[in-house]
Amino acid sequence: MIKNEVLTLIRKGINKGKLVALTGAGISSESGIPTFRGKGGLWEKYNPAIYANIPGLISVLLTRPERIVNFITDFYQVLLKAKPNPAHLALVQMEKKGILSSVITQNIDNLHQEAGSGRVIELHGNAYRIRCGRCEKTCNMGRERIEALLKDLGINKFSRRHLLKTLNKYFPHCNCRGRFRPDIVFFGEILPEDQLKAAYDELDKCSLLFLIGTSGIVYPAAGLPSYAKEKGTKIIEINNEPSAISYLSDQLFLGRAGEILPAIAEDVTKDM
Ligand code: NAD
Repeated sequence: MIKNEVLTLIRKGINKGKLVALTGAGISSESGIPTFRGKGGLWEKYNPAIYANIPGLISVLLTRPERIVNFITDFYQVLLKAKPNPAHLALVQMEKKGILSSVITQNIDNLHQEAGSGRVIELHGNAYRIRCGRCEKTCNMGRERIEALLKDLGINKFSRRHLLKTLNKYFPHCNCRGRFRPDIVFFGEILPEDQLKAAYDELDKCSLLFLIGTSGIVYPAAGLPSYAKEKGTKIIEINNEPSAISYLSDQLFLGRAGEILPAIAEDVTKDM
């Protein structure tokens, strides 16, 4: 049961304009994807200073190829196993009732789309896509192709020549002669301009922002709530611990998004 004053806050938001959700890695943790900084996260095993940028990955590929295979395998395997959880589904429920207008996500796991969210703004890209580093053309890279990539990498793990051949196959040259790479924003890279603009446009029209499962330390995404707040938007935060931007929240729910969001969605949609 959600407290009456919170429901009033949400209902006021609905009457005034649009509701938007900004999500981070925490919303997918109950789907089995560890947050990067959390326990069991990728950065416990791999140093982000090396593995979270393209030059670092290339240097590992050239010096310790089997290590790059382990990294790519660990990275994709956890994503391939994940399924949307009740928090993703609660956002879909609110969108279907016309309450929620969009989801702005920092996640690359495609789980909002898999759950059925119609309007998802992806600030950090999507692991199921590749993008030409030169002309920016994108192509989908579905589950089956990723599984085939992992299989080929496993077979060719100990031969640098075969490994390069495999990577050339799955991340080929584009017609423009650029090279395809994962459509993910690595550390230090610029966010996709169109997506960032779309996020600001959504916040311009938004009356209430759900801030879900984000530590609020990865910028520029972490700057979006303060932009919204300055425009008078109310913020409801759901996180299992206070974040770096909890001071902006009008209401902070401490707990699991997979329990709290469905309860909110149930309460606000029950008379609709
Ligand atoms: P973060 O890892 O910095 O913070 C996650 C936050 O979620 C933490 O505050 C944590 O306390 C909270 N949290 C964990 N489980 C929760 C739950 N069940 N319910 C509610 N809150 C929960 O995540 P961030 O702020 O999104 O920044 C990390 C960056 O790493 C992002 O840029 C994101 O792109 C990337 N990332 C993405 C994924 C993914 O796609 N699923 C996973 C890990 C990291």
